Amino acid sequence: MSIASVVNQWFVVNGRDLPWRRAGFSAWGTLVSEIMLQQTPVARVIPRLEEWLQRWPNPAALAAVPSGEAVRAWNRLGYPRRALYLHAAALTITERHAGVVPRDVSQLLALPGVGDYTARAVAVFAYGDRHPVVDTNVRRVIARAIDGNAEAGPPSTRRDLAAMEALLPADTEGARLFNAGAMELGAIVCTARAPRCDSCPLAEVCAWRAGDYPPYSGLRKAVQKKFEGSDRQVRGLILAELRTADVPVLATELDTVWADDVQRTRALAGLLADGLVVGSPSAGYELPS
Ligand code: SF4
Repeated sequence: MSIASVVNQWFVVNGRDLPWRRAGFSAWGTLVSEIMLQQTPVARVIPRLEEWLQRWPNPAALAAVPSGEAVRAWNRLGYPRRALYLHAAALTITERHAGVVPRDVSQLLALPGVGDYTARAVAVFAYGDRHPVVDTNVRRVIARAIDGNAEAGPPSTRRDLAAMEALLPADTEGARLFNAGAMELGAIVCTARAPRCDSCPLAEVCAWRAGDYPPYSGLRKAVQKKFEGSDRQVRGLILAELRTADVPVLATELDTVWADDVQRTRALAGLLADGLVVGSPSAGYELPS
């Protein structure tokens, strides 16, 4: 039996029941969920996604409100530039695609904030087309089960897509299932820190396991900086302050969110440069309209 068949059989029985996997979930919902999931865990995404789709059930509904509303509703999902991207994508979809999320990968890639993973994920999971979809979890499963390496090494779109394509069933339904199944296997069984090989459907064929788990000796991507005390934390605190305000917040009021003047000023300058905040020292600061 092929690796894809084994994973697909396992996935049909063991895959989690997640909102974006349910029948009838819209292409817009798939796009929103994939962008939310890019850097935020599933458990934190689900409640925010439900609120978001209730309020803005289609791209036109989101495009009709100021971008600051999207940033406000993003709340504490982290990396809030994604809210601005989603708003900009909603505008593009409304203006250029008659309000319908495109199906074509090149049109999806042209949307703000949509990269190789998200474009293919929408084409496959929302429209059922056949493409390889590769995220961190898929890369780890392939690295271990096929290549015999503990880790995947730095990403390469061309190489990663080719590796997944080589395993993908020819039929669209089998391919869709395998894309979702490989991702799920990496998320809940072949996890980065504690793979549960005893529960893994690939245990008998896994190259890394067969080689007695050799340690990783390849290149590593740069380790992400600690959140506590980082500019990211200060940016989040400033945004939290602005989210709760109905009028522009003066710079002196922002002084209270973080004591270090240099770091607070730098974080505010970054938010202004990214378009997540608008205003000036004299007028005060607010979310964009
Ligand atoms: S056998 Fe272990 S290491 Fe190999 S794919 Fe399964 S969980 Fe990952």
